[in-house]
Amino acid sequence: MTYERIPWNQYFMGQSVLLSLRSTCKRLEVGAVIVRENRVIAGGYNGSISRDTHCFDDGCYVVDGHCVRTIHAEMNAILQCAKFGISTKGAEIYITHFPCLACTKMILQAGIEKIYYLEDYHNNEYALKLISDIKVALEKVNLLRKYFDKLTFGKNDESFLFEANEE
Ligand SMILES: [Zn+2]
Ligand SMILES: [Zn+2]
Repeated sequence: MTYERIPWNQYFMGQSVLLSLRSTCKRLEVGAVIVRENRVIAGGYNGSISRDTHCFDDGCYVVDGHCVRTIHAEMNAILQCAKFGISTKGAEIYITHFPCLACTKMILQAGIEKIYYLEDYHNNEYALKLISDIKVALEKVNLLRKYFDKLTFGKNDESFLFEANEE
């Protein structure tokens, strides 16, 4: 077997999936990592404001069919940059799901120049138009099993996240 190093898009999207596991709202587990020059500068998952109660403890706080307790993964990642004074200009973001309209607007306004996402999720028409108008790159990523097979756990699990080993 020839050694093939994991490509950047698999490496960062894999991390985004890992972060999603930490989500506190079980309605949708989302992860996001912000990357600059092939380095992760921030990450986030779908969760409550720090020190607030969690959906998985107290149930979701639903208004008009949406849980309003949590901050979305993308917003959490961007806010982490604000909190610690890290520039997001020219960065890229890897998200487990297509971003909602509010997150899309934040991503664009934060100067992020490329959006990678794993799963389609109610892909908002206006979000797509904005991404196209602002000329931010958008790419759907498939995670390929072959790059993760060396992990000893979950090896035989037919996870929906992983596509067959074709590019
Ligand atoms: Zn919730
Ligand atoms: Zn969002």
